[in-house]
Amino acid sequence: MEARILVVEDEVRTAQWIRTYLEKDGFSCQTARDGNTGLKLFRSYKPDLLLLDLMLPGIDGNELCRIIRKESDVPVIMLTAKGSKEDRLGGFGDGADDYITKPFEPEEVILRIRAVLKRSLGHEIRVLSCGPITLDLAGQTASVSGRNIELTHAQFSILTVFMNNPNVVLSRNRIIELAFGDDFDSFERSVDTHIRRIRKLIHSENYEPITTVYGGGYKLVCADH
Ligand code: CA
Repeated sequence: MEARILVVEDEVRTAQWIRTYLEKDGFSCQTARDGNTGLKLFRSYKPDLLLLDLMLPGIDGNELCRIIRKESDVPVIMLTAKGSKEDRLGGFGDGADDYITKPFEPEEVILRIRAVLKRSLGHEIRVLSCGPITLDLAGQTASVSGRNIELTHAQFSILTVFMNNPNVVLSRNRIIELAFGDDFDSFERSVDTHIRRIRKLIHSENYEPITTVYGGGYKLVCADH
């Protein structure tokens, strides 16, 4: 499934890297730099989800969200600046479904988008792939070149994090955070054990996509992303 995401954000570089990450992750994406263009694109592109910056030239994010709400139930994630009133009040009083505080990590944006899409579509984006590796998120099964591999729940979660973040260096802490949430202090060393086991299952003589980045962590190399 290729969900369409519309990003309305006047900071061009931010909009560009969000778009790059979304497209890497298999989403289709369009960007607009102001509210008026955003509204026009919303009507023509018919996105599955809107990523909407609050402070925009022309129609601002809140106003745009109000207008769109009259026309559609499309999920909206608001981007707000840290320390702003909206941030402090948890402010998405104008019909947004979620909000993300700047500055944010690309992984966070992808996770939030997936979570909001899951709620709105009633199902998750089900299949992730990288080269010969396929993860079926609904069925919780993994395969390499069509051959099923046996992963524990923790290993499946870790591999899902890699598949959601292809070609991104992930520290152990980041992997734990994304796979299990924050409360896994003593887990760090065993991430290595899990990854060793995952590698054993997916690596072959001439295919070793999970690389160790010295001093950094790990990276899943995906040629097709
Ligand atoms: Ca802005």
